Amino acid sequence: MARIAYVNGQYVPHRNAAVHVEDRGYQFADGVYEVFAVMAGKLIGEQGHLDRLAHSLSELRIKWPLSRAALMVVIKEIVRRNHVRDGLVYLQVTRGVAPRDHPFPAHSESALVITARKSDPMDKDALRTGVDVITIPDIRWQRCDIKSVALLPNVLGKQQARDADAFEAWQVDNEGYVTEGTSTNAWIVTADGDLVTRNASTSILNGVTRLSVLEAATDAGIDIMERPFTPEEALAAREAFITSSTSHVKAVTRIDGQSIGNGHVGELTNRILDAYVEYMEAHGGPRTTDTWN
Ligand code: PLP
Repeated sequence: MARIAYVNGQYVPHRNAAVHVEDRGYQFADGVYEVFAVMAGKLIGEQGHLDRLAHSLSELRIKWPLSRAALMVVIKEIVRRNHVRDGLVYLQVTRGVAPRDHPFPAHSESALVITARKSDPMDKDALRTGVDVITIPDIRWQRCDIKSVALLPNVLGKQQARDADAFEAWQVDNEGYVTEGTSTNAWIVTADGDLVTRNASTSILNGVTRLSVLEAATDAGIDIMERPFTPEEALAAREAFITSSTSHVKAVTRIDGQSIGNGHVGELTNRILDAYVEYMEAHGGPRTTDTWN
């Protein structure tokens, strides 16, 4: 079955989907994106993703390409046309096409691309298998709260992880604290049993999954500390895991080649994965999404 993409007002075969060479996303990474998970036919965290998109667009002064309601119609149509029951939707908005020059163009129409891809349904056993993480210096810019398409440091970091046979790289800031993964948020359960993830700020992308997990864990009576932690604290932790729209809640069992806890998925990580899945079934995403306002 041929995949269909949405490009600036048109549904086109995926293989023909293209943007102009002077699109500012292509030339300057002058654009933002969102990735939505689709689980059992349901779009996950749509309000959260749209609120974060609103934040990214407004911080960069890029105009909405369509109204929020119209955007949702197109997203759902792309899911339908690609017969996605489990998978993801990728949405990208750039400042549009203009003769190449650094300042914002006086006239340009925001460009919108939406694609969808099928994947296997969420597999809790696979998420519990546990992955390796390495730590690397965070060489990104100072506005990591904006979901910018300028992902080169993230690409380099993820490749460094792959080269080390690891799944993810946790980035470490100049003060020696973990910010987040290259495409995931980072969590630990400390030696004292505290569930810790870095507080939302301009140093991290506030994940929609992160927010859902915060709410699901709170509902399940689990206390959370939102604060920075060091790689040393992570190495001494009982448990660790990562969250994102594509990785959900994935156990981390080794950091920089060293086993975390007993080297198996932790008890709290297991509880949180269950709580997250239940929460998604009940609410479809985070209830509180005004974090980005
Ligand atoms: N942090 C970074 C740098 C990311 O790129 C992502 C997702 O792409 C996340 C965290 C997780 O965000 P979400 O849970 O909204 O997918």
